[in-house]
Amino acid sequence: MIVRGSSAMRFLPVFLDTAAGVAVVIGAGEPALGKLRLLRAAGARVRWFPGAADVAEEMLALSGASPLELIEALLPARIGELAELIGRHRRRFAAVPRALSPRRFWQNVIAGPIAEATLAGRSAQVEAQLVAAIDASGARQSAVARDTETVFLVGAGPGDPDLLTLRALHALADADVVFYDELVSAEVLDRARRGAEQVFVGKRRGQDEINRRLVAAARAGRRVVRLKGGDPFVFGRGGEEVEYLRNAGVPVVVVSGITAALGCAAEVGLPLTLRNEAGKVALITAERAQDAASIDWSGLADRQTTVVVYMGLASAAAVRDGLIAAGRDGATPAAVLARGTRPDSQAAVGRLDQLAALAAEVGEGPAILVIGEVVAHCAPWRAAKS
Ligand code: SAH
Repeated sequence: MIVRGSSAMRFLPVFLDTAAGVAVVIGAGEPALGKLRLLRAAGARVRWFPGAADVAEEMLALSGASPLELIEALLPARIGELAELIGRHRRRFAAVPRALSPRRFWQNVIAGPIAEATLAGRSAQVEAQLVAAIDASGARQSAVARDTETVFLVGAGPGDPDLLTLRALHALADADVVFYDELVSAEVLDRARRGAEQVFVGKRRGQDEINRRLVAAARAGRRVVRLKGGDPFVFGRGGEEVEYLRNAGVPVVVVSGITAALGCAAEVGLPLTLRNEAGKVALITAERAQDAASIDWSGLADRQTTVVVYMGLASAAAVRDGLIAAGRDGATPAAVLARGTRPDSQAAVGRLDQLAALAAEVGEGPAILVIGEVVAHCAPWRAAKS
């Protein structure tokens, strides 16, 4: 087996019998170290070729050890005993009907008191403790599984998976189940752990039902990711879900995402604020014409305010009328940015008094409306005017 210690390596989930031969690791640095630790923990016979002589020599100079000895020194001395202990009881766990995934169970074991005692050499009790934990894992009150897992409320960004935060990626990589809705792109969903269950909870599902399902999954000991387009706390009903989960005693972690206004603006080179031109940004929502009618536009009429309207595609005419009636100049630059950061993204640019026509131009949503002097700096505007 050859494992390259390159950070560019893509995920390749493989199961290899470490007893079948020698594992070869090529490369130096953290990625190679990670592979070495893993292989050693799995009990593999390892040959290491550091490749980069300078790094290897530096390491040698530190302790006078050979690369392999050095690695051994970095690892807990009894890691082999822990691996053996787990290895002896894998089958037993597999035979127990349970709610908890094997991955989560063993993760909890490795992070818990059983592993700690083993590594500290206090191994007298651990065998019995592990057996008890395995047998109890079918029931809720497992010694190693916390009763209720955490729900991660994760911002999926506007569509491009490269705009996920590292924290969002980690949460996705660790999920047992992912609840997502229509705004989450397939490319983002693709970043979830392969074994994770994916559950669509689109618009037609009521918020009550979604809340109940999140709680039920967490209480079953499953690590839950609730994926929401953009940022969970910007027109995402994240506030309501957090409150519900807290009241139900479920731990919640909110992972922010890039909201549509920021992702779309960056894509077309539209600065939402600009010295001397825009000192204020307002994120508003106007799903229906009635919503637009109930907005106090007077606070958004001044020249220095950039207005970004979410869910405004169908109410563009009402937004236009509201702003102009409040005194905003009909000649103010305006843009409709549709399906931002996705492969089929599209922008239409013009004046505020043309907003309804611009909205009709871009086709399907999701889309934001942007009104303000700064729109004249974006790439589609420059292209249209040149
Ligand atoms: N929480 C989300 C917003 C949800 S409301 C966020 O922070 O972005 C849904 C609205 O978001 C859509 O109607 C649209 O106005 C906007 N939106 C979401 N994704 C978008 C995208 N890729 N391009 C343009 N607008 C988007």
